[in-house]
Amino acid sequence: MLYDLHTHTHCSDGQLSPQDLVSLAAANGVNVLALTDHDCVDGVIEAQSAANSDLAQNITVIAGIEFSTQWLGRGIHIVGLHVDVHSADLQAGIGQQQQTRHDRAATIAQRLEKVGIANALEGAQQYAKGAAIGRPHFAQYMVEAGYVNNMGQAFKKYLGSGKAGDVKQGWPSIDRAIEWITASGGIPVLAHPDKYDLTRTKLYELLTDFTDAGGQAIEVVSGKQTSGVTDKMAKAADDFSLLASCGSDFHSPNYAWQALGQYSPLPSRCKPVWERFG
Ligand code: AMP
Ligand code: MN
Ligand code: MN
Ligand code: MN
Repeated sequence: MLYDLHTHTHCSDGQLSPQDLVSLAAANGVNVLALTDHDCVDGVIEAQSAANSDLAQNITVIAGIEFSTQWLGRGIHIVGLHVDVHSADLQAGIGQQQQTRHDRAATIAQRLEKVGIANALEGAQQYAKGAAIGRPHFAQYMVEAGYVNNMGQAFKKYLGSGKAGDVKQGWPSIDRAIEWITASGGIPVLAHPDKYDLTRTKLYELLTDFTDAGGQAIEVVSGKQTSGVTDKMAKAADDFSLLASCGSDFHSPNYAWQALGQYSPLPSRCKPVWERFG
């Protein structure tokens, strides 16, 4: 069985529709797919009906979400797996996050204006196509408008950690996101732990706070990563008695390092999070 438990659609900053995501997942041999769009669950129902209407694809869609939070001034992502999309607590959290994204987009645009990037809010809106705005939409605009050569450069110069467009002040604590997920019957998972540039000491501080707040799992495998990273995260899962998750963090067929369903398997000593799916 192949599980991909971290993926995005055009309901947040991904490229594909939920239906196309399900088709690609099936083509790539994924059996269990979790949709985990940023701060929203809008694509889940469409993906589940796509999976149910073509049983030949043999794929199960798990309802999920990826909440943006901040911890000690850093942007940290908490995935919720197997949530109830109709939960009032989850919906309240989503409402708050959507408002934060809306306000934050205006702040990002103001800050970009100051470093010479004009009309960024209108530009980003054009790429978000009605979805809540994220930094990749600003990056797309900056590429198209000729300010940078590619998305990577947009993050490196303007949107990445510590740059003008990196606004995380409005995000809630990790505790709050964990509450929203748990209240909706979901499993809180620390997303892509290797992406935060933390020392081992800081990672273990984060995991202490995460588990104290009710966090239950960690992405031991996130996309294509070295076996050294996998070993380190499997050890962290052991040390904190956390369940292990795995996923591509798929956004677009153009990003080879986040290919849907394509990464090394969880180490056998890990206790997989899907044992809790029921
Ligand atoms: P936001 O949700 O607005 O904070 O934007 C974060 C998103 O930006 C992540 O989920 C990724 O999809 C994307 N991202 C972050 N860093 C990079 C990068 N260096 N290059 C391209 N996309 C990135
Ligand atoms: Mn993203
Ligand atoms: Mn993330
Ligand atoms: Mn993600």
